[in-house]
Amino acid sequence: LNGYVGFDTITSQINRKLILRGFQFNVMVVGPSGTGKSTLINTLFSTHIMNSSGRDNIDEPIRQTTEISVISKVIQENKVQLRLNLIDTPGYCDQINNDKCWEPIIKYIRDQHALYLRRELTAHREKNIPDTRVHCCLFFIRPTGHNLRPIDISVLKRLSEVVNVVPVIAKSDSLTIDERLAFKQQIREDIAKHGIHLYPYDLEDMDESERSLNAAVRNIIPFAVVGSEKTVMVNGKPTRGRQNRWGIVDVENENHCEFVYLRNFLIRTHLQDLIEMTACVHYERFRTKQLLALKE
Ligand code: GDP
Ligand code: MG
Repeated sequence: LNGYVGFDTITSQINRKLILRGFQFNVMVVGPSGTGKSTLINTLFSTHIMNSSGRDNIDEPIRQTTEISVISKVIQENKVQLRLNLIDTPGYCDQINNDKCWEPIIKYIRDQHALYLRRELTAHREKNIPDTRVHCCLFFIRPTGHNLRPIDISVLKRLSEVVNVVPVIAKSDSLTIDERLAFKQQIREDIAKHGIHLYPYDLEDMDESERSLNAAVRNIIPFAVVGSEKTVMVNGKPTRGRQNRWGIVDVENENHCEFVYLRNFLIRTHLQDLIEMTACVHYERFRTKQLLALKE
């Protein structure tokens, strides 16, 4: 008698359903204009999604984003479909008066939670509520080498209360090796000193391997990145890079910058976790607050 029932196929049944449905991933970029936000997004997903503000023509003014805008794009790898929403925010602190420059950004994030909650609470709840909640916020820091400004601290603090925040040092090709090391250290200290609680989070039900992966990531944050959409030749092979007068910055070379670490983290190890944590940490917090307020 063969006792095989076959319920071990449940994982492939789940897999099949998930693949058919595809995945939704919503990423927001925050930071001053001209720090390479659009370029980095295009580099991360290896396709042109966002237009750069860089000038093709010297007579053109630098294009600044003045409103929050969302760009959607579907990309596919093998059978897996990823529906991307890229949320571009106005370069905060571009204005003369930066008072509350974070408000529209926070409002956007909250609005998506509210939208989701409303659809969840309808009598005929949809099976798959469209998810516009922001799963990850890439926070761009200029490569100044100075301490974070008070405005950066207060924006980081507010953001990290409502969304998974991942800080990156923009255009890190402008820092020397020593400067980069010192700057990373300084930013980590600033973040710790001000009690800013960044993604990734360790939850109680996580096992040792997940915890150690998170710890390793925390040791790298903030990622010192370089972005480029240009293809350059390195040892006869095409790669994404920046050609300078003195040489080539190879974006995918770990000795040149930490782009590869960022991509591994966001896409290859934590994509699902970013989506999950948005639902079970940030959205849950919002939901509880709203529902308790309703009761009163
Ligand atoms: P955004 O305004 O933050 O979206 O910045 P963009 O992505 O439009 O980039 C502004 C300019 O900076 C463009 O000319 C880019 O080519 C350049 N740029 C983007 N990323 C990098 C980088 O990592 N290093 C350097 N040196 N320049 C970059
Ligand atoms: Mg841009």
